[in-house]
Amino acid sequence: MKAIYQMKFECGRQGCLTGIFTAKVDAMRVLIDSGREVYFGEVLGKHSEVCGPVTQAEIKLISDYCGHVDLFEALGMATGYNPFDYIDGGEDAVIEDGANHDQMNAAITDYWFEHYNSRDQEHGLCSLCGNSGIIDTRATAVSAAGVRAGRKNFCICPNGQSLRESKQRASHDQP
Ligand SMILES: [Zn+2]
Repeated sequence: MKAIYQMKFECGRQGCLTGIFTAKVDAMRVLIDSGREVYFGEVLGKHSEVCGPVTQAEIKLISDYCGHVDLFEALGMATGYNPFDYIDGGEDAVIEDGANHDQMNAAITDYWFEHYNSRDQEHGLCSLCGNSGIIDTRATAVSAAGVRAGRKNFCICPNGQSLRESKQRASHDQP
């Protein structure tokens, strides 16, 4: 399914990129949820190097009624910047990346469920983090030679994964 979207991509003091275009709804969802960086290049003049994630606040759904979408495309009404024009493979590549990502996360969740879910104790808590989503090994992960290898990490459980993903959108790799 496709929809008509309006984008107002903020580029700080340089201004903003606007566009009205159609895109697959699934592709737009993955683009926003993944926090993927879109590289627009020097679109606002030499050395402007516009790039960054497209956020929910920068995208407005104009219509997903197929009559509107068909008419919009038939009349060639797209104008301005479409982020998918700046991604190799466009919408389909974004959808595929999203599916791969979901599959990878599902594999990790299965592994966690199999080995680190304390379901035998009947409360279904994560045996690594107690469902806080964060594991702090700074005091415990010390090598035989006394090197402190610990770190505050996101857990591999579903809570940890969703915390990581929401923090990644704000570009933090560590909690
Ligand atoms: Zn956990």
